[in-house]
Amino acid sequence: MKYKVDENGFYGNFGGAYIPEMLYPNIDELKRNYLEIINSQNFRKDFEKLLSEYVGRPTPLYFAQRLSKKYNTKIYLKREDLCHTGAHKINNTIGQILLAKNLNKKRIIAETGAGQHGVATATVCALMGIDCVIYMGEVDIKRQAPNVARMKMLGAQVREAKSGSKTLKDATNEAMRDWINNPIDTHYIIGSVVGPHPYPDMVTRLQSVISKEVKTQLLEKEGRDYPDYLVACVGGGSNAAGLYYHYLNNEKVKIIAVEAAGKGIDSGESAATIKLGKIGIMHGSKTLLMQNDDGQIIEPYSISAGLDYPGIGPLHSHLYETERAKFVSVNDSEAMDWGLALSQIEGIIPAIETAHAFSILDTMAFKKDDILVFNCSGRGDKDLETYIKYFKL
Ligand SMILES: *Cc1c(COP(=O)(O)O)cnc(C)c1O
Repeated sequence: MKYKVDENGFYGNFGGAYIPEMLYPNIDELKRNYLEIINSQNFRKDFEKLLSEYVGRPTPLYFAQRLSKKYNTKIYLKREDLCHTGAHKINNTIGQILLAKNLNKKRIIAETGAGQHGVATATVCALMGIDCVIYMGEVDIKRQAPNVARMKMLGAQVREAKSGSKTLKDATNEAMRDWINNPIDTHYIIGSVVGPHPYPDMVTRLQSVISKEVKTQLLEKEGRDYPDYLVACVGGGSNAAGLYYHYLNNEKVKIIAVEAAGKGIDSGESAATIKLGKIGIMHGSKTLLMQNDDGQIIEPYSISAGLDYPGIGPLHSHLYETERAKFVSVNDSEAMDWGLALSQIEGIIPAIETAHAFSILDTMAFKKDDILVFNCSGRGDKDLETYIKYFKL
């Protein structure tokens, strides 16, 4: 497959495993075992049972009638916002906690920025009765108090990362340090399709349940198992990778990825990694990164904490370079307006991350018979405070 990872962990020019020597044993153990485990019948059985009975899958593929009418095209929403904990992230954490059990790990660590991945990780650790430590930047702990409280309620220990800008990148560094010091009993659950090989491929496969379901659901509703367009927002890229996965080699399906332009591409305050990024190495992977001429990472900005990441998964850099996917960047105000619009047109309050994706309806033209599938990656509850302030509700 043209868009699959090769045995060294590369998607074309991107990916790999650029890690300190101290991490070799951990990464090597994962690399040797992940495919066999996640393809095993036992794993599939446990994974599918939990996705169905605990997460609430399959999530609906909902035909958005009023939105379709307004834009004179056929729009479906893949309702990942209806997953337990409110977003797609739990598909990955359920998979990785089962993998950790298979590898006899007794302890879980994770990084989190906005706290969504931290909550999804703390949730599955509670479910399995496994110790959980979440690393989070000091600044983010202050900004995301409700999610910190959730993680604590779920029994996780939240540790403050006090270095650098005290945000996601620094929390990731702390988590990697912890892993080096605890190589035998600990599994590190990374929250998106980023990090050293095999994480990008592993997380993509776990999230690919999204496109697997879309195929079945579209066949039922439209008599063909593929759409004309797939649309998703991209932070690290996991909900997008999950939506695209089973369609990557079907060139009839056009792929659109939407990244956050913050206050505007040229404002100096954005998270538009593809538009602004240059090739570099961060968190163990070669990919496009927002960096200055000296290779220093530039602090990203977006009103949505989940898209506020200076890198992007190597699969997406490859999809961009090969022009398999079209990348669009959308700024804060466009995304916020769509958060309100989707609420009032369809009765669905989306996460601000998710809202970014819908902006393409204003800038691209579609035919009446085109079938579009948008990934509704998460619900807006967590963003209520931001919506309230922004719209003076
Ligand atoms: C975390 C998050 C994202 C961004 O992460 P990806 O790995 O790019 O999917 C998007 N939407 C929601 C609702 C999130 O919580």
